[in-house]
Amino acid sequence: MKRKITIAIDGPAASGKSTTAKRLAQKLAYIYVDTGAMYRAATLAVLRSNVDAQDETAVVSCLQDMNISIELLDGEQRTYLNGEDVSILLRSPQINRAISAISSYPQVREMMVRQQQELAKMGGVIMDGRDIGTVVLPQADLKIFMKADLQERAKRRLAEMETAGENINFKAVMEDIQRRDELDASRSAGPLKKAADAREIDTSDLTINQQVDRIAQWAAELLYNE
Ligand code: C5P
Repeated sequence: MKRKITIAIDGPAASGKSTTAKRLAQKLAYIYVDTGAMYRAATLAVLRSNVDAQDETAVVSCLQDMNISIELLDGEQRTYLNGEDVSILLRSPQINRAISAISSYPQVREMMVRQQQELAKMGGVIMDGRDIGTVVLPQADLKIFMKADLQERAKRRLAEMETAGENINFKAVMEDIQRRDELDASRSAGPLKKAADAREIDTSDLTINQQVDRIAQWAAELLYNE
C-alpha cells in the first residue's frame, strides 16, 4: 500500500479551503484538521474571560490556562475548549472581529503551531490555515495555495451564513473578509503567505468537485512517482 502523505492548504478567508479539504479527506480517507477553528476557540476563550483582545500579555496568560483540542466525529471536526464542545459557537461576528489581533501574537501562534505539528505526525493529514505550508508543516508532501476573487468569496461566505440562519448583508461579509485578509497578511508571525513550493489554485470559476479532483490528481501523481 502507498504511504499516506501530508497535505497543507493555505489561502485567504473563504477561498474554499475547508470545504475542499474536508471532501478531499473523505475521498482519500485522510484526516482533516481545520486550524482556523483552533484560533477561533482561543478567541472564544479570551472573549469569555473578559480579557482585552488588544492586551497581548493578558491574552497569552489567559490562553496558557486553557485547553483547546479537536476530535473527529463522523468525519466532522469537533473543537473543544476545556472539554466543552464549542464547534457551533466559533463563527460569530464577535469572534471574527477579535480573532485577527489574537492570532497575530507570536506566543499564541507558538502554542497553536506546536499542537498542530503533533496532530500531523500521524500522517494521512490534510491541514488548512494561513501558515501551514510555511511554518507548521514546511516539509508537507503537497502544498496548495487557494485563492479566489474577493466578490466570489464574499458570495460563498454569505450563502453559508444564510444557510446557518444568520442575518448579515453582502457588504458586511465582504468587508470582514477583506479586513481579516489584510491583517493576516501583514502580521510578522506566521503571516498569510504562499509557500515558495506551493501549487496555486484560483477557485473563482471552479466547482468544489473540480478543486478536489485537481488536488487528488496531484496527490496521486506524487505517490505514483515515488
Ligand atoms: O480559516 P478561518 O477563516 O476560520 O480562520 C479564522 C482566522 O484565524 C483567520 O482570519 C486568521 O486570523 C486565523 N488563523 C491563523 N492561522 C491559521 C488559521 C487561522 O492565523 N493557521
